[in-house]
Parts: sequence; structure tokens; C-alpha cells
Amino acid sequence: MSESWNKRTQAVHGGTRRSQYNEVSEAIFLTQGFVYDTAEQAEARFIETGPDEFIYARYGNPTVSMFEQRIAALEGGEDAFATASGMAAVNAALTSMLQAGDHVVSAKALFGSCLYILENVLTRFGVEVTFVDGTDLDAWEAAIRPDTKAVFFESMSNPTLEVIDISAVSLLAHAVGATVIVDNVFSTPVFSRAIAQGADVVVYSATKHIDGQGRALGGVIIGTKEFVRGTVEPYMKHTGGALSPFNAWIMLKGLETMALRVNAQAETAQRIAEALEGHPALERTLYPGLKSHAQNDLIQTQLGGKGGTVLSLDIKGGKEAAFSFLNALTIPVISNNLGDAKSIATHPATTTHQRLSDDQKVELGIAPGLIRFSVGLEDADDLLADIKRALDVSQQ
Ligand SMILES: *Cc1c(COP(=O)(O)O)cnc(C)c1O
Repeated sequence: MSESWNKRTQAVHGGTRRSQYNEVSEAIFLTQGFVYDTAEQAEARFIETGPDEFIYARYGNPTVSMFEQRIAALEGGEDAFATASGMAAVNAALTSMLQAGDHVVSAKALFGSCLYILENVLTRFGVEVTFVDGTDLDAWEAAIRPDTKAVFFESMSNPTLEVIDISAVSLLAHAVGATVIVDNVFSTPVFSRAIAQGADVVVYSATKHIDGQGRALGGVIIGTKEFVRGTVEPYMKHTGGALSPFNAWIMLKGLETMALRVNAQAETAQRIAEALEGHPALERTLYPGLKSHAQNDLIQTQLGGKGGTVLSLDIKGGKEAAFSFLNALTIPVISNNLGDAKSIATHPATTTHQRLSDDQKVELGIAPGLIRFSVGLEDADDLLADIKRALDVSQQ
């Protein structure tokens, strides 16, 4: 029955398992170990661990398992493995399945730490990585080879909000038997249908919209039972990037309210983007929900027309104007998380993407005046008034 539930019901009830007390709210099993009734039971469990059996919290824990089952159900995946952070998830999804000599094709517009793993870590162990413009299907087709093992991309890129065609890239990858791994943070679990559209593996930083209130780090890898239990679990069990039971509980409670939060944030983001488009202080207003977005058709089919919770504003006057805009804001905070209840403004060129060379910044559209704006749960009129006032200050 629970398989037929829609996302909102899964987000509240999916994966729930109750203890002998039949508690309503999910229990936090803050324990690293589990007692065996007999030596024989311990032996048997180390040979084969059943679905409701646990050995050690690095391998699995009841609260963590509830979070894994809930997010897997929500995303339409068979199973999931929770990790200590989003980066632990990206690292494990790739590293657990790759070996020296393998070939990977990746979009080049990536979150800085994802780029580091592909460019600096995997290559040190003999994995060959080809980077492409993720929006260019011809480039994917040219780069994917008969021996390509995996393709990797962020379905909506950070911070320029380009959208990558999951169905089309998956078709190309599957033609050579490559695994499609999608970092889906900006698309959010609320608007995503990535697995139905062809992704084999979906990765989230739960730190973002799943917690949604800026409290804890977490991550998750969603895929087939075979990939999650056969490939990811052995790697994670022995390398130690487990999600803590307490943080899993925060993520479980976050999932319950996620759809309400993310829909409200996306609605406000749409409203702000529409109101700011063409503003004299702006070179560009980037938001996937705008009709003017270069990939509007794809956004309709892939995301049901929803633009997500982040917009990017390219302010006239470069870094100096961008900084005076940031310093003039009174409601949004200057920080670098996203998907939070609090609106957050970020200057990618000097923070999240500081490590990139000037050439890379130009190539990825990270202009000196670009501000990434994660829309929170504040009143839309208050936010818009604050942004407009700060834009005026930026041009003085
Ligand atoms: C934040 C983020 C990550 C990393 O997540 P952490 O939980 O901070 O480790 C990975 N990919 C994308 C697209 C992100 O936005």
C-alpha cells in the first residue's frame, strides 16, 4: 500500500518503524551498538544482516534506516544509504563503483567540492575524467565512449542555474552501459523525478532542503538495492562516513515539512525573479522559473516548470557593487548554505567558487557581480523591498 503513496504522504510516513512503546514521533536510537541474545545470534548476524537487524552504527542504525527508507520512497528509488554530509555522499557514490583505468564523463559546472573529487581525487587513483558543457548534448555524445563507466552532473548547476537534461544524457549513457549519477540538490526532492527520468543514482546534500533549517550536515545516496547494498554499503561500512542517528532524526523531521517549505520558497523565488527581471541595477536575473530562461522547455518537462528555491542576480558594477548590495541587506544573511528557512545571499566568486581560476570563472559564468540568493520562508513583500533597496544602494 505504502508504495502507491504520493510524495507528501511518503515524506510524513515513509519508512516509519516503531519500538515497543509505539511512539508517534520517530525515536532517536542514540546507540553505536546492539546486544545479541546469544553468541550464535551474533555469529549469524555477521554472516547475514536482516532488514531490521543492526550490528554497529557505522554499518546502520534504526533511526538512520528510517531516514534512508523515507527518502528512497519519496524519490522512487529502491534503497538509500545515508552519509555524514552531502560530500560524503558524492564521494562514496563515485569512489565505491570506480577503479583505476575507468572513464567518467562529468559536467564542468559543479559545486567546488564536487569538482575537487572529480578533478583531484579520482584522477590520483587512475580514473580518467572528461569534462563537458552539461547543457550541450552533442558534447556528451562526443565524450561518452564504449568504455565509459559513469556520468556525473548536477541537474541544476550552482550558481548559474543551468538545467541538464536527465532523460537525454541518461539515454546516451545507458547506450554504453554507463551509470548515471545525479547530484540533485538544486532540483530538490520535492520537484525531482530524476529516477523516473533515467538517473540510476541520485545524491542529495540533506544539509540543504531536507534539514531546511540550517542545523545539521547530512547526505544520502539513492539507487537500486543492488547498487546501494552491493556497492555503496561495503565501501561506507569500512570508510566511516556514517550519518549520526541524531542528525538522521533531524532529517526525518525535516522531510515531514519539506514540501510545504520548498513550495513556499519556490513561490517567493518566482515572485522575486519576476519582479526583478529588467531591473536597471541588474545585468541579468537568472531563475529557472522565468519564461526567459534559456531552457524553459526542458524546465517544463523535467521539473514541471518549477524553478526551485535559488536565484542568481548579476549586479551591474562588479565586485564592489555586489559587496555593497550584500552589506545593505537587512533580512537575508550573508552566508553560504542554501535551502534554509532564512534567506541567504552569497558572492560565489569570492567564497564558494574562490578556488577557480579567473578563466574557469568566466567559462562558468561566475561574474564578479554575481550574487546567489537562496530564498527563505520570510514574507515575500519584505524580501522584495529589502532587495530593491539594497540594489539601489549598490548603484550609488
Ligand atoms: C552543498 C552541496 C553539496 C555538499 O553538501 P554538504 O552537505 O555541504 O557536504 C554537494 N553538491 C551540491 C550541489 C551542493 O549544493
